[in-house]
Amino acid sequence: MILEGGNKVDFDWLLDVSAGVSWSKLQSIILNPENLISLEISTEELEVIWESHLKDQIPLQYLISKCPWRDFELEVSAEALIPRQETEFLIDVALKKVEDFNTGRWADLGTGSGAIAISLAKSLPDWSGHALDISNEALDLAKRNLKSIVPDANVRFSSGDWWEPLKRWWGSFDLVVSNPPYIPSDLIEELEPVVRYHEPRLALDGGLDGMNASRKIINGASHGLAKGGWLILEHHYDQSEKITNIMKNIGMEEVSFEKDLSGIKRYACCRKK
Ligand code: GLN
Repeated sequence: MILEGGNKVDFDWLLDVSAGVSWSKLQSIILNPENLISLEISTEELEVIWESHLKDQIPLQYLISKCPWRDFELEVSAEALIPRQETEFLIDVALKKVEDFNTGRWADLGTGSGAIAISLAKSLPDWSGHALDISNEALDLAKRNLKSIVPDANVRFSSGDWWEPLKRWWGSFDLVVSNPPYIPSDLIEELEPVVRYHEPRLALDGGLDGMNASRKIINGASHGLAKGGWLILEHHYDQSEKITNIMKNIGMEEVSFEKDLSGIKRYACCRKK
C-alpha cells in the first residue's frame, strides 16, 4: 500500500475509525514490529479512501460515513455539517445550567446530523426534546442517528426555520441549544477546501456578519423560552461581545460567556426572566 502525502494525524484517525486500529495499537506494533494486527477493512479499501481524500479534498468523515463524537458514533453525510470538537463542550455548558431541573423541554435548533439532540436525549432522559432543521435530508440523517443511538428517546423532529416550527410550544422551553451557521459570508472562501467544497454552505454561512441565524434564535428566545429557561448558543471566535449584547438588549438575564477548550469565548448563555 502506497500512501503519499496528506496529514499523519488524519491517517491515524482513519485507521482508528475505519479499520479499528487505535493509536495505542499502532504504538504497540511500532515498538514490536513482529506483532501482527488485523484491520477491519482491507488495505485496498483504505487506499481508495485515502486517495480520494487527497485528490478531491473530501472529508474522511464523509468518505467513511462515520464520525465519533462525545461518547457515541454518528452517521454523517454531505447533507449536514461534520460535528466539531468545540461543539462537544457546548453540551457540558448546557447541561450544567439545568443540573437542578428534574424534567423539562429542550430544543436543538438546526440539528444537522443530530449530534446535540442525541447528547441531550441521552443526558436528560426524563425531558421531552425537539430537534429541527430546515433541510429534510439532514432531518432524515438525524432521525436515523437518534434511532440507532437512543432508540427510546422522547424527541420530536420538525422541519423549518429556527423557532418557526415550534410555535405550538413557544413559552415552554427550559433549554434551547444551537450551533447555528455563524461564519461571515466573505470568509467562506477562506475556509479549508475540505470544508469549503464539501460541507453544506447552509450550515456554515451566517450572512454578512455571520450572525443572521444567531439574531433570529436570540430574538425568538424571548417568546420561545419558558420563564427561567436557558438559551445556550455557539458562535464564531470573535462574536462573543456582539452576541451577549444582543441577549442583554432584548432583556435576557444571567447573560454570560464560556470559553472552549482552546480558551476562545465560544458559547453565549442567557436566561429568560
Ligand atoms: N465551527 C465550524 C467551523 O469552523 C463552523 C460551524 C458553524 O458555522 N456553526 O468550521
